[in-house]
Amino acid sequence: MMQRVSIVLFFVTTAGMAVLPVQGVWAQNQKSDAAKEPVGAPPASVRPNDSALPPRHVDEEKTDAVTPEKSQVTGLRFLSSKTYTRIMLDLSQDAKYEVRQLKEDATKGTPARIYIDISGARLTLASKEPIVVEDGLLRQIRIGQYSADVVRVVLDMHSLRGHNTFMLPDPYRLVIDVQGQKVPQTTATKEAPAKKAPAGRKPETKEKKPTAAVAPGIRKIVLDPGHGGKDPGAIGLDGSTEKDIVLRIAKKLAAKLRKELGIQVVLTRKDDQYLELIDRTYLANAEAADLFISLHMNASENTDARGIETYYLDNTTDEAARRLAARENGTSRNNISDLEFILADMKQNMKLEESITLAHRLQTSSVGGMAKVMGNVKDLGVKKALFHVLVGAHMPCVLVEMFFITNRNEGRALSQNKYQDAMVQALYDGIRKYQQTTFIAKNL
Ligand SMILES: [Zn+2]
Repeated sequence: MMQRVSIVLFFVTTAGMAVLPVQGVWAQNQKSDAAKEPVGAPPASVRPNDSALPPRHVDEEKTDAVTPEKSQVTGLRFLSSKTYTRIMLDLSQDAKYEVRQLKEDATKGTPARIYIDISGARLTLASKEPIVVEDGLLRQIRIGQYSADVVRVVLDMHSLRGHNTFMLPDPYRLVIDVQGQKVPQTTATKEAPAKKAPAGRKPETKEKKPTAAVAPGIRKIVLDPGHGGKDPGAIGLDGSTEKDIVLRIAKKLAAKLRKELGIQVVLTRKDDQYLELIDRTYLANAEAADLFISLHMNASENTDARGIETYYLDNTTDEAARRLAARENGTSRNNISDLEFILADMKQNMKLEESITLAHRLQTSSVGGMAKVMGNVKDLGVKKALFHVLVGAHMPCVLVEMFFITNRNEGRALSQNKYQDAMVQALYDGIRKYQQTTFIAKNL
């Protein structure tokens, strides 16, 4: 299923090529020559309409800010799929940024553009030449040192309907997701004008899913077996690893959903490979999945801790949820608070209510289903938490902690086919119930 999406990677760094563990078709390109042309002088056909740019108040703000060290912009890459394009910038440290968009101006021959000014930043890319994308949505990416203090990234678009920008820490990455109406290359120029252009230039313009594309029920699910490769996740008392157990369950669940419900299922990983968290949700978005379900097993220093809990993404102040989020994200706890600001933006893209409903269906079903084979199962409930893996997803998404691998009974059980199958059945039932509910709701 993964091969249906053509994912293109372009990665330029000062250190050379880096390969991300995202499955798909890679197109790699690296320009080793230092650019001779400053970004301030792009080709005339795509030159920004400078009179349309806002005043450079970023510089003015800088005068009273004390910045001991500039954030270095060390890498630029993009991931391109049928439905949207993700651009990622690697930064050496946190930085302020502003995003603007400009409408196409046919009289000047300038395309619709998004530009991002990163203040207190210095560009250290080897190549500063425009990067041609031409995926039907994004024409090309230009990057340059706009002023002594500002790195500007300009996205020359074919069409533009919305974008979402957020910073991820550890390491710092500025992520720009651009949604649009991808059109065949031959008709791109005809399709691009006014109809598709946003009404204003407000950078916070949000994308709504086209209603015609919404089918009742669930068409496609992305299942995300947590961890993998060099990241084993939690480890059981008998040495079993979370990454292995969740992969086995995910594969069985995928097969069952395909066979019995005819749902397309995409696994973020099919084997023991390491996958960056951000690439997991990218895949879900690229596949335009209806649901994103991340499968994990819990862990605790207290080997008596037991039970099942399900999470959906939301802001939270609950300390335990933060600790869990830190562990699942593989980051220190302090970084979690850095994510909170993302949520104000993300909430508009998140189908929060549907995520909560899905979380409850899976929680109820897995507790009830496992109780049939294991007796007493502790219901730890539905909770909200911050997870990198759930940030950036455009569909209802949840994370299930299927028992504690650190609990002798529960860890041993989920290592066995019999209990894995019971868990698969329980998750399947939860998805089916969720599907029935949404189908009914959409057909009232
Ligand atoms: Zn986990």
